[in-house]
Amino acid sequence: MKKFTVFAAAILISLSGYAQQKEGEQNDKQEGHYNISKFRQLKQELPTPNTYRTASGAPGHEYYQQKADYKMDIILDDENQRIYGEEVITYFNNSPDELEYLWVQLDQNIRAPDAKTNDVKGAGPSTFYRPKKFTEEFLGEPFPGGFHIDYVKSTSDNDLPYTINGTMMRIDLPNILKSGENVSFKIKWWYNIPNHVIDGGRSGFEHFEDGNNNYVIAQFFPRMAVYNDVEGWQNMQFLGRGEFALVFGDYEVNITTPEDHILDGTGVITNRKEMLTGKQWRRYEKALKSYDKPVIIVTQEEAEENEKTVAKGTKTWKLKAENVRDFAFASSRKYILDGQAVKLGDRTVMAISLYSKEGNPLWEEYSTRVVASTVKSYSAQMFDYPYHKAISVHAQRQGMEYPMICFNFGRPKPDGSYTERTRNGMIGVIIHEVGHNWFPMIVNSDERQWGWMDEGLNTFAQLLAEQDFEPGFPSRGYPKNVVTYMSGDQSRLAPIMTQHDNVFNSGSNAYSKPAAGLFILREVVMGHDLFDKAFKTYAERWRFKHPTPADFFRTMEDASGVDLDWFWRGWFYTTHYNDIGIKDIKMYQASSEPTEKAKRMGKRYGMSDEDLRNNYLYLVEIDSDKSNGDSATESMRNNPALSEYLADNFSKEEREKLRDTKYFYEIIFEKPGGLVMPILAEITYEDGTVENKYYPAEIWRFNDKEVKKVLGTEKRITGIKIDPNGLTADVNAENNSWPREESDSKFESFKKKTLSN
Ligand SMILES: [Zn+2]
Repeated sequence: MKKFTVFAAAILISLSGYAQQKEGEQNDKQEGHYNISKFRQLKQELPTPNTYRTASGAPGHEYYQQKADYKMDIILDDENQRIYGEEVITYFNNSPDELEYLWVQLDQNIRAPDAKTNDVKGAGPSTFYRPKKFTEEFLGEPFPGGFHIDYVKSTSDNDLPYTINGTMMRIDLPNILKSGENVSFKIKWWYNIPNHVIDGGRSGFEHFEDGNNNYVIAQFFPRMAVYNDVEGWQNMQFLGRGEFALVFGDYEVNITTPEDHILDGTGVITNRKEMLTGKQWRRYEKALKSYDKPVIIVTQEEAEENEKTVAKGTKTWKLKAENVRDFAFASSRKYILDGQAVKLGDRTVMAISLYSKEGNPLWEEYSTRVVASTVKSYSAQMFDYPYHKAISVHAQRQGMEYPMICFNFGRPKPDGSYTERTRNGMIGVIIHEVGHNWFPMIVNSDERQWGWMDEGLNTFAQLLAEQDFEPGFPSRGYPKNVVTYMSGDQSRLAPIMTQHDNVFNSGSNAYSKPAAGLFILREVVMGHDLFDKAFKTYAERWRFKHPTPADFFRTMEDASGVDLDWFWRGWFYTTHYNDIGIKDIKMYQASSEPTEKAKRMGKRYGMSDEDLRNNYLYLVEIDSDKSNGDSATESMRNNPALSEYLADNFSKEEREKLRDTKYFYEIIFEKPGGLVMPILAEITYEDGTVENKYYPAEIWRFNDKEVKKVLGTEKRITGIKIDPNGLTADVNAENNSWPREESDSKFESFKKKTLSN
């Protein structure tokens, strides 16, 4: 019986294989295919528009989003590097749906000994092992990280049943949470803070040789997952790469630290005056009005004095934030603090930096100035920065963003010297992380799903902000920066439209490539006016909301009137690269003698050769070294049809103003690359003058491999270059110029001979 089944199944399989083969052969014979035009619309790739999200890319009339408010009491235990918290979450169900449970993110569980993130890594040994990490991995026990949940209770102190699944926790509600209702519940928790310098990760502490710690604390409390019309509950596991999906809400947070700590974080510190000395407070007030340069509020001497001892007492910082999607803070007794005021319209925003002496002199010199410049640049690009402050914290090996606060690398050598690379790296990361306030802190995309929606858009805006701060700054978002990546081993690439944890090379895929794509749209495809308006429209439409890729793609078209589906399809949905070259150049001469093709066509329409001679002109291919400009022009002007037309329609003066066209060139462009892209051709003439020709991407609609343009010129063309300024990420420069410089094939030497004529 069993044998028979296997045998029968084998026959069935081979039969169906045969049938598919037959079908394939038939298709080959008919040469039929599905619509493979690179210009077909993205109808099948994008979700159907609805009342939540419109076809124009804007929020629909029934758009909703959930809200979560947090009240938290936090204790930072510096002695044991632990953090304790009690929080009350009030969750507002603004969706039309009934919810029977809630999903809460427990991101710290990525540090738990049984975290899935370790098990899904399959890349072999690490390049470097610090002794602590090596011991934890191979000799001793893993770091005892992850949340310890003491309880989950209702506000009336009844335990709520919950289930932890890795970095997610489901809380089962006693009653269904109906549309329009809200529910409050309490969670008590603690965890061991990881050393982020050794163990990696996006938050933790750095331990200094002087015995002190620098805490950059984030993902530190159970946070509500997003529920929306797109994903339902966004409860994908946190594996480390795909960042966060978070809801907006209001926060009231009390943080108890050692008495000698300086702290700042998301929100207004409502008791800042009590937290500073009288002198420091007066400096702070001065900083509030200092628009031209930073004012040092806690000095290096004060910080150095502070770090010599350990205070026994504690103090409690009170922070309040409205309409933020997350909360983070930094705390240490080592901090120097400075600030500068930034004018935005009639509002003032504070640019603030926290750093230890190890960051100087670099941090005193640059950090706050860079923050101030970034706030201005991004406000002009997108919308005015809505919060009251933007903080940059110096944290070794960090580059991580939160509302109003970010943690940034860039440390000089112990003797205070630093390289250009360290300086530029620090400036770049500060601009980038402060810039994240726009994407995704305010334009609140789903980072767990799409890395490019915040990283790519932000890396693009960063490039413009970097050039504002320092023209010529080595930004990474230029098209030339992605050439190596895009032309690499295709099996090691993924389209940008790939969930972030499944991307091979995040730095290129989620940062540089989308940024370069936007740069190409702005510089090559759309132009500054149309692009800037559309990009701003996207940011304004979705500020304090949750956009998706479709909302971005649609808005960029909606506000500009430029069909970009071909660009999204190629750049975002495939791993194709751009390679356009010049295949051949032919020379023609105008003639009255019909070509063979014209004669054949003429016959079909009943025209005699005489008719053809009297009524039309023809371009006939000639040997380029035989072309003689002047006689060619003369014979062209003597063409009966043309001379009659010119005489009838132009006065003598007008005829004299007509171009003195002597040469006709057919330029044959080839496209070995899979992407379609506008052709940027720089044409050099015999007298050294240069002309730039622009052919839109749509030139490739009817032939994806080769297109031809015919030019009539007054001067001989001596050279053509494609994309001479490297604006289109063309991966192969060898075929970009005519004559080709390094080839000495017969064909090329022929061209060179032509040139010397
Ligand atoms: Zn980033």
